[in-house]
Amino acid sequence: MTPKWHFLTGIVAGLLAYFYFDVSVFYSVVLFLSCFLIDVDHYLFYAFYKKDFSFFSARRWCFYHMMKHKASTYGVRRKSRYPFFIFHGLEVIVPLYFISFIYPVLFFVFLGFFIHWVEDIIMDLIYPGGANKFSIVLAIWDFIDKKGVEIGCFD
Ligand SMILES: [Zn+2]
Repeated sequence: MTPKWHFLTGIVAGLLAYFYFDVSVFYSVVLFLSCFLIDVDHYLFYAFYKKDFSFFSARRWCFYHMMKHKASTYGVRRKSRYPFFIFHGLEVIVPLYFISFIYPVLFFVFLGFFIHWVEDIIMDLIYPGGANKFSIVLAIWDFIDKKGVEIGCFD
């Protein structure tokens, strides 16, 4: 899913939290921000992988690969090498939920990440064979394993 849709669902989630579930302004804003700022890991991957800290180059690179990913067949996608995203995985999302028992603000970070993650998983079901969003460890493993194959980047 593109950042624009994550941003829009973040607005809806934040407004619902505030108006329907009576959540404070601060927590509603945290929820809204968490719905799309999780994708900062795409930038981090690009910055360290390409050694280029330009936000606009990273954005261009991600969009180029996203379009390429969508246009590819399942077979090509399966063989492609995908980046790993350090916030997109159960290794971050599940602990966030449990740590939120101690720090309640993290519950809204967890909720934002979870909403975003579900949206990404739905897109991965529509375009299967892409980056592993379930496990960061497996995604890193896959990244190391598929050396030399063209790299892709998706939501
Ligand atoms: Zn994402």
